[in-house]
Amino acid sequence: MKFDGHLSFMNNENESKDFGNRYHLIPFAVLHPKSVSDISSIVKCIFDMGVNSELTVAARGHGHSLEGQAQAYQGVVISMESLRVPEMSFHIGKYPYVDVSGGELWINILHESLKHGLTPKSWTDYLHLTVGGTLSNAGISGQAFLHGPQINNVYQLQVVTGRGEVVTCSDEQNTDLFHAVLGGLGQFGIITQARIALQPAPRKVKWIRALYSDFTLFTNDQEHLISSTNSFDYVEGFVIINRTGLLNNWRSSFNPKDPVQANQFTSEGKILFCLEIAKYFNPEESNNIDQEIDTLLSELSYIKSTLFQSEVSYVDFLDRVHVSEIKLREKGLWEVPHPWLNLLVPSSRIHEFAHEVFGNILKDTSNGPVLIYPVNKSRWRNGTSLVTPKEDVFYLVAFLSSALPSSTGKDGLQHILTQNKKILSFCGRPHLGIKQYLPHYSNQEEWKAHFGTNWEVFFRRKLSYDPLAILAPGQRIFQRAN
Ligand code: FAD
Repeated sequence: MKFDGHLSFMNNENESKDFGNRYHLIPFAVLHPKSVSDISSIVKCIFDMGVNSELTVAARGHGHSLEGQAQAYQGVVISMESLRVPEMSFHIGKYPYVDVSGGELWINILHESLKHGLTPKSWTDYLHLTVGGTLSNAGISGQAFLHGPQINNVYQLQVVTGRGEVVTCSDEQNTDLFHAVLGGLGQFGIITQARIALQPAPRKVKWIRALYSDFTLFTNDQEHLISSTNSFDYVEGFVIINRTGLLNNWRSSFNPKDPVQANQFTSEGKILFCLEIAKYFNPEESNNIDQEIDTLLSELSYIKSTLFQSEVSYVDFLDRVHVSEIKLREKGLWEVPHPWLNLLVPSSRIHEFAHEVFGNILKDTSNGPVLIYPVNKSRWRNGTSLVTPKEDVFYLVAFLSSALPSSTGKDGLQHILTQNKKILSFCGRPHLGIKQYLPHYSNQEEWKAHFGTNWEVFFRRKLSYDPLAILAPGQRIFQRAN
């Protein structure tokens, strides 16, 4: 078989790794595609071998999965970042958009879009992820309450199915495949091209943090903020467990609104909840931005002495996690195991959840940021493969733990995994209706429980688009037919 790119059979260690750093499955070969036909040819060839072959195919974005989801043991990994076609092409009009390769990084899309005064609407907290990778999950960040997740903000996809066919799909054309692939965990096709919705870009961001010691006040304010479109542009939050010198750390990048009062605040020994919000603006157009923000803040019940603000460029705001990445890489703390756990918790159960998890399981310490913020499903696209709780408002709760490789203590992998198990065991109580985001299960029964009433559709779509279960074996949902 002739490729525009090339296949490599040696030195494929990189493709047997991911950000989770816990699964290392060596593939048989890695394809570095230069064209969509490279991808369709290899999938079609494997499909045509039928049950005589055991080969599977995993598209690999930037390899930022947590539990081997982009790996293929003894199979073929497709390194999507090699696919540089199409070149990013912008359509400027009433509904602007950009066509990009499925292997494109969001950070590159941001930089190119800004050259046209435009920007995608919905983001993840970290931009060094690929379009195909985040669209296969959802792509959720603090803008999702307003615009829905990234899977809401895509007009069209080009997909190579598990039969090797190249299909264009959208809300108007091949709709079932379009919905299947969005949030589809790579099960139905490889995204080779995406048409991403854009809007005019702001230049600046007012970035604000404030603390709460009362969980009810915190969540009431978060839910109040996401209930209106005349609000902030970004609403998130995080939990602070047993941290000292917290406000002092903030001072390197944020300014206290009231420095004297802020000096007197102590966070020692308490569980605190931090509201993180942002308002976008263009200095030449908005001369009363501070007043607008003060009005919005006057409706909130945070601890007044803990209000901190900062003004940064739009790029610096969106690319903020990359700054931490650089620091952690310098200390050798980026490529450690990451036993992350992401949950979607219905609003009606968030207090019960917080009481058990923050008041009991994690009351002494956490091993990384714990994010918590609500989103409203009414703004999310219906019919995709993504599974969410049944209520309109639900919380993303993300335990973003890092483990120290050689530690057997509270910062070691085993301890964190045990804590995750305790959290999951609590969350398994059926009345809570909690779902995993970036889900991970080891057998099909658990997957069926995850999908619930959506399992039948998911299964039917698998039979239609990838009947031999060739694609994304690392999700461990289906067994390769042989
Ligand atoms: P990979 O890990 O390479 O792949 C993920 C899955 O998608 C695999 O099953 C793979 O086979 C499949 N896949 C990859 N490319 C394609 C394609 N082109 N077509 C079809 N299937 C494909 N997520 C959020 O929603 N919000 C966040 O704020 C957020 N922050 C993060 C911060 C960090 C530091 C990290 C490491 C991850 C974060 N994530 C977040 C999770 C992230 O969205 C997922 O891990 C995503 O899968 C990573 O994208 P990737 O390009 O590295 O995909």
